[in-house]
Amino acid sequence: MGRIAVTDGMDEKAVLMLEKAGHEVVAASISTDNLLAGALSEFDAIVVRSATKLTSDVIKSSGSRLRVIGRAGVGVDNIDLEAAGKAGIVVVNAPRASTQSVVELTLGHLLASIRHIPRADRGLRGGLWEKKALTGSELSGKSLGLIGFGRIAQSVGNIAQALGMEVHAYDPYLPPKIAKSQNTRLHKTVDALFSNCTHVSIHCNLTDETYHLVNSERISMMPKIGRDGSGCGNHIINCARGGIVDENAVAQALDAGDLTSAALDVFETEPVPSDHPLLQMANFHGTPHIGAATIEAQARVGADIVSNIMTVLEGNESDCTVNRQFL
Ligand code: NAD
Repeated sequence: MGRIAVTDGMDEKAVLMLEKAGHEVVAASISTDNLLAGALSEFDAIVVRSATKLTSDVIKSSGSRLRVIGRAGVGVDNIDLEAAGKAGIVVVNAPRASTQSVVELTLGHLLASIRHIPRADRGLRGGLWEKKALTGSELSGKSLGLIGFGRIAQSVGNIAQALGMEVHAYDPYLPPKIAKSQNTRLHKTVDALFSNCTHVSIHCNLTDETYHLVNSERISMMPKIGRDGSGCGNHIINCARGGIVDENAVAQALDAGDLTSAALDVFETEPVPSDHPLLQMANFHGTPHIGAATIEAQARVGADIVSNIMTVLEGNESDCTVNRQFL
């Protein structure tokens, strides 16, 4: 049976599932120095979230025993997939487990933004009763642009349509028939999406192509006026990955009035430094990367990742393998 390191925490029931199957679980964070010194050479598998960085150097230092890396979540940008593949290590994730939780957080940010809920709460606690200054706008009658139209975005789009929004998407890798079947207007360029939408929500992966995809130039293309003719302003939401949004550009756009609100769950540097320019802006609100932080998602992530790891340790192929092309 295998020896499995769990370095960024995992649902208790998932740990028990591994132990019940006869595996030894060692739950402890391992410093980068220790990882580079070969700490993983004593393990058959490792389960990480986003904190542990499995770089090419770490993977090269891991010896030949390590057979599988499990990412308890979706994004695998903290793992060098090619280096793992070349070393014969299978990388699996749990792509569907947190979808609903991220969808609901995105909707929460969208609604909180347009009705100024965080600012209203801050004012109330400070003794302010700012009824006039807190006039918001409705989602109904507006255009929502989704960058990336995968699992999370499609579900956000369905709910947005139920709220009366027109849904647009930009996703160069998506078969157009999927957007069509979801009654969603698929744009050929990201600029076209920005030019058509007062509300833009990010749901793609962080890659070289998407780094700072939301920048000053694109924000300035947003129409400020909703399809229904109301002056709702422009709004940006990012519950995908830090780095896709240029945070300095967003702070400047909020200051200049080019954006009416911005809400982020993910940041280029996490935890966010206390002198971050967005933290000074009244029309910004954020959450500390809690998209998947629900009881239900964590239970599903744990169960899915355990199942995927055991599949690989038993010598079978997991359909959640994300580095197949490098193996
Ligand atoms: P998904 O793979 O189903 O969808 C991602 C979509 O992005 C795909 O359709 C892909 O074609 C598209 N895409 C790739 N490159 C693109 C580009 N250059 N421009 C536009 N689109 C592009 O993934 P998902 O499960 O919907 O997750 C979406 C994002 O949410 C991921 O970045 C994931 O890491 C993130 N996420 C965040 C949290 C959180 O805690 N906030 C939790 C889970 C997932």
